[in-house]
Amino acid sequence: MRFNAGGRPALPRYGHITALALDPVEKKPLYHWRPGSAILSLGFAGCNFFCPFCQNWRISRDADAAGRPVSPEELIARAQEAGVSQIAYTYSEPLIHAEYLFDCMTAAGEAGMANVLVTNGSANPRAAEEILSLTSAANIDLKCFSEKTYREILGGDFDTVKNFIRCACGLGVHVEITTLVVPGLNDAEPELDRLADFIAGLAESAVHPGMAGMDDALRNDASYPPPWHLTAYHPDYRWTVPPPTGKNLHAAACRARRKLPFVYTGNTGGENTTACLCCGAVLAARQGFRVNAGGLVKRGGRWHCAACGAPAPFRG
Ligand code: SF4
Repeated sequence: MRFNAGGRPALPRYGHITALALDPVEKKPLYHWRPGSAILSLGFAGCNFFCPFCQNWRISRDADAAGRPVSPEELIARAQEAGVSQIAYTYSEPLIHAEYLFDCMTAAGEAGMANVLVTNGSANPRAAEEILSLTSAANIDLKCFSEKTYREILGGDFDTVKNFIRCACGLGVHVEITTLVVPGLNDAEPELDRLADFIAGLAESAVHPGMAGMDDALRNDASYPPPWHLTAYHPDYRWTVPPPTGKNLHAAACRARRKLPFVYTGNTGGENTTACLCCGAVLAARQGFRVNAGGLVKRGGRWHCAACGAPAPFRG
C-alpha cells in the first residue's frame, strides 16, 4: 500500500476503492447509532493483519484488487446524491489508507456528514488520535484476549488494539465492539469472560455528548459500556473448522450479559432486541439488518425510551 520512494512515502493506491455500496447501518454492525439509517460504505484493498479465517480475504489479501480511484469530492457527492449524511470506511482495513481517510473525513465533516470507521484498531497512537478525532462512530474488532494469538496468528499487537479502543472511548466516539467467534481460537469461557470484563471497564472512559450538563443520576445512566457483537465465523480463506452453532453463540451471549447490558449475536439469523434499562420496554428489535426502532423517540437531539421517557443508550 505504501513504500519508500527515495526517502518520500509513495501511496500508489491512494483513493483506490474496491467497493462502494449503500448499506443499512446495522450491517457495520452499529446497533446503537442512528437506528434504521442508510450509510454510504466504501472498501479498500489490503490489510495490516493476516487473519487466517479472514471473511474478506479476496480484498484484504490482494494489494491489486480491482476497483477505481474515487476522490474525496466524488465520495461526498455520491453520498449527497444518495441522500445520506454518513460515510463508513469499512470492508477490509481502512486505517492502512490513513492519508486518504484523513482527507475524506475532513471533507465529509465540512459537508456536515458523520464518519464511521470499521476497523481492527491497529494504528500508532498519533495516527489513531488524528483519525479518531474526525470519527463519529466506530465498530472496532477485539478479536481475542490473548497477546499470543494477536501476535502469532493474526499478525497484530494486542496492546495497540486495546489502546485504540480506549482512545476512541476517551475522545467521545460512539464505540461498538465486534468479536468474530472462532471455535478453538477465542471461544473458551475464561477468554470470553476477560473480553467482557475489558469492555465493561470501558464505561469509565466513555465520554458522551452533553454529560457535563447532566445531573449525577442521568450521567450514571449514560455511562454504559460499548455494545458487544458476538458474530459467528464461517470457514473461509485458510481456516476450516466448523462455525459455532447458534446454540453455543447464544449461550456465550447470555453469559456475557451478566457483565454487559448490550450483547448481540450476528450471522445466526436470530433476533436481537434492545430493552430500556429503566422500564424494560423494547426500544429496538432487529431481524438480520432490518430494525424496528418504534420504542425510541428523539427529543432535543437525544434518544429516549418512548414508554417511560428515560434517556436511551443510542447516539447519532
Ligand atoms: S483484520 Fe479483518 S480484513 Fe484484516 S485480515 Fe483480519 S479479518 Fe481480514
